[in-house]
Amino acid sequence: MQRNAAASARDQLRDRLRIAIQKSGRLSEPALALLAAAGLSWQESRDKLFYYGESLPIDLLLVRDDDIPGLIADGVCDLGFVGRNVLVEQDYERQSRGEAPAFRELRGLGFGRCKLMFGIPDDWEWDPQAQLPGTRIATSYPALLSRWLAERNIEASVVTMSGSVELAPRLGQAELVCDLVSSGATLASNRLKPVEVVLDSEAVLAGPAGAIADARAGIAELLMRRLDGVLKLRDSKLLMFQAPRAILPHLMQLLPDAEPPTVMSLDGGTQTRTDGDVALQALCHGAMTWQRLEELKRAGARGLMVLPVERLLA
Ligand code: ATP
Ligand code: ZN
Repeated sequence: MQRNAAASARDQLRDRLRIAIQKSGRLSEPALALLAAAGLSWQESRDKLFYYGESLPIDLLLVRDDDIPGLIADGVCDLGFVGRNVLVEQDYERQSRGEAPAFRELRGLGFGRCKLMFGIPDDWEWDPQAQLPGTRIATSYPALLSRWLAERNIEASVVTMSGSVELAPRLGQAELVCDLVSSGATLASNRLKPVEVVLDSEAVLAGPAGAIADARAGIAELLMRRLDGVLKLRDSKLLMFQAPRAILPHLMQLLPDAEPPTVMSLDGGTQTRTDGDVALQALCHGAMTWQRLEELKRAGARGLMVLPVERLLA
């Protein structure tokens, strides 16, 4: 009887998808917000290790971000939300040990953006081929940095540190750093300047290198479709304006990320098809910045209005 219960618990586990997310840190809140926007709701366990999914058979495991690729590799979790920097670093590490790829990026998620960059003393000019040989470079990303150096045949020492990398030059442990930068303020306060990008990063949805097995494959697909919908909607805006009909083709060229627009005549139908003014509305999928609106206005659009989109069902 007990054996049956254990076996059925294992089978049930296979029917539920398990996603690893960061327990506390920069990626935790945005990851939970994205999953909630995709329709997930959950109940927290007392020890805050698991969140049990209520609306869908998807459970969350709350861990340190560095553990997420390994949990996917070991099959403990099916998916994970993790920085591309962590995923690529651990992938390169595995490759350098001769291990097969065990996880991969499935989607960029558009939050947690940062860059892995070289930071050099304020008074240096950046000339890597001449400058880097023989130097010590402090980093938390030794595999990424070593590959960058090897690709350029540059021989320098990689000094691996787990945190406070930006202090290394002041402490005499290294001459320069290769560190994550978002605003650059941390580098600046240590008299360093960012000079070259090694990796452009954001949070990604990571999954196994191979396919997800059994019933979980269908759940993963459903989740990814919903995530795609949410991510697409995040950047989508409804743009409305009026303009002379004759310049519409030109205006639409300024909106390469717009869906085919709805065009309404402003005169109740007395105009010909080629003259007069029209009102137009179009769903746009890129950021609708002030610069873009000003460009449209200069080109002849009037009464520009940008509206948020609440839900989208294609
Ligand atoms: P954990 O306790 O989970 O190991 P951590 O200290 O490694 O936490 P955070 O500082 O919360 O992690 O960063 C998580 C991720 O956020 C990074 O791996 C990176 O992808 C992203 N990120 C975005 N901006 C920055 C930044 N300015 N500095 C560091 N990470 C950033
Ligand atoms: Zn970490």
